[in-house]
Amino acid sequence: MSTDAKATATADKATPDAAVKPSNFLRAIIERDLEQGFQPQRHFGGGPGDAAHHAAGPLDAARIRTRFPPEPNGYLHIGHAKSICLNFGLARDYGGACHLRFDDTNPEKEEQEYVDAIKEMVAWLGWSWEQGGQSNLYYASNYFDFMYRAAEYLVSQGLAYVDEQTAEEMRANRGDFSTPGKNSPFRDRTPEQNLARLREMRDGKHPDGAMVLRAKIDMASPNINLRDPALYRIRRATHHNTGDTWCIYPMYTYAHPIEDALECITHSICTLEFEDQRPFYDWLLERLAEGGLLARPLPHQYEFGRLNLSYVVTSKRKLRQLVEEGHVDGWDDPRMPTLVGMRRRGYTAESIRAMVESTGASKTNSWIDYSVLDGCLRGDLEGKAARAMAVLDPLPLKLGNYADIFGSLEHREPCSAPAHPHLPELGTRQFSLGPTLWIEREDFMEVPVKGYHRLYPGNKARLKYGYVIECTGCEKDAEGRVTAVLANLVPDTKSGTPGADAIKVKGVITWVGAHEAVPTELRLYDRLFTEPQPDAGERNFLELLNPAAKRVTRGYLEPSLAGAQPEQKFQFERHGYFVADRVDHRADAPVFNKITGLKDGWGK
Ligand code: ATP
Ligand code: MG
Repeated sequence: MSTDAKATATADKATPDAAVKPSNFLRAIIERDLEQGFQPQRHFGGGPGDAAHHAAGPLDAARIRTRFPPEPNGYLHIGHAKSICLNFGLARDYGGACHLRFDDTNPEKEEQEYVDAIKEMVAWLGWSWEQGGQSNLYYASNYFDFMYRAAEYLVSQGLAYVDEQTAEEMRANRGDFSTPGKNSPFRDRTPEQNLARLREMRDGKHPDGAMVLRAKIDMASPNINLRDPALYRIRRATHHNTGDTWCIYPMYTYAHPIEDALECITHSICTLEFEDQRPFYDWLLERLAEGGLLARPLPHQYEFGRLNLSYVVTSKRKLRQLVEEGHVDGWDDPRMPTLVGMRRRGYTAESIRAMVESTGASKTNSWIDYSVLDGCLRGDLEGKAARAMAVLDPLPLKLGNYADIFGSLEHREPCSAPAHPHLPELGTRQFSLGPTLWIEREDFMEVPVKGYHRLYPGNKARLKYGYVIECTGCEKDAEGRVTAVLANLVPDTKSGTPGADAIKVKGVITWVGAHEAVPTELRLYDRLFTEPQPDAGERNFLELLNPAAKRVTRGYLEPSLAGAQPEQKFQFERHGYFVADRVDHRADAPVFNKITGLKDGWGK
């Protein structure tokens, strides 16, 4: 574990939706705003719109408005969960509304598949974009008309111009941190000339890349984002919503503030890399409000630190690379830090929310150790997952005196155990003893090491919820590999009967009766990368993939698991938490995924 990761790994056992919310600077800002009776005259027109639309609407019933604005160009990952829980959580806690807005202004990479997957994951995490009878599900591409209208307004006011410099010229004339930029030779055209050019751009009179619309601010600004940023580019591409209506598309930095303002967002919360964009965000919205196009009060942008999780990568581009190059089995591969992957692995929405909430919001990017997430998972499942016995690395155990004790090899000796040690309402599990059982290979040693208390010739151990047995030896194949363990039952030692404790043993063994064992596929997962920060520095993260992150084996389950449903989670006694795979599990062909162990194995 890196020291960074340790420093931020605080919550070992956070409770989902705990009453006590870690305070953070965003809460402080919102509380201050609400106390100061901020925005008392805020109207909301019932949906997105311009100044006139909102002015005609009633006072906004939502006390604040936040939004989660994903670009539908990939699957959500754990970092997005941070943003989702922050935005929806703040809206919930302060009587507000949170919008789900698809930031689909870029025509090239966006697909309906991603839109559907994003909606599904936001809902799975437990959030809803419907508040007070209103659905706040929006698409930024529906604002293209307004964005273009706003562009014409800026041009008419001399606040924007069409620049015909080549991309290289523009880059060269932008300057850098130590050198001011140079004005474009096209900067001093009249508003009329610029308007004509902009309309030609819109009408498809110029090829892609021939010119761009730029804001006219200050080529010498110390903030490079204010050196006449591009607002519109020419791009002939079919958009998934607007088709071929447009051949010019707004730049993200222009589109995003407008989207917020049209939706009457009050607190526009984004990650730190947008901090330098804030002056332009404010400049643009001020100009458009002055012109009467956008409603006041205007949204404000606040930045928080990104969440990074150790041993994974959280960049859509890198996750796409893992999928497309076949390093994993798809976006929902249980090793992936995508929300679909984590769900399939068995992480609960509660545990993800608890992890995210326990880490609050800060002004710096943070690394959260994976053990924090696993701690939250255990905290959630410990109290509610039914217990079961499972044998992951099976070896037969033959009870030599079985017929002597029970009269026949056909006899089945009933045993039982509580489904959960603290939840009697979950009832009891029934299973039975027969002459042959499955036990873990590691529970036998022909020559025991010091301190080993399980089965070795001459030693006694207890079959959990069953009898004490005494090991008498083993069977081996031609290569000397142990193929079966031999033992005898010790009479009158059945768990829960008087005298069960007459014989003291130090070892307890989990087992499943061979006559009733449910064979299963087991997918044992481990960390995706071998190092905590695989994409730090100049390294190629692909070289740090953990080849042992997935191991598929077969084992046996106790009969109570025969009816397990996909996504049902269990604690396999002594092994950890497992889930019936939501895609591949079948009653007649069970598949269980290992979510995590019973104890933190990350520090070792
Ligand atoms: P990526 O960098 O993985 O491609 P992105 O930021 O481009 O992600 P968007 O779809 O634009 O993905 O993100 C939607 C929202 O989620 C944005 O507001 C973004 O700031 C936020 N977000 C993305 N990654 C993280 C993260 N690691 N921690 C917190 N918030 C994040
Ligand atoms: Mg982004």
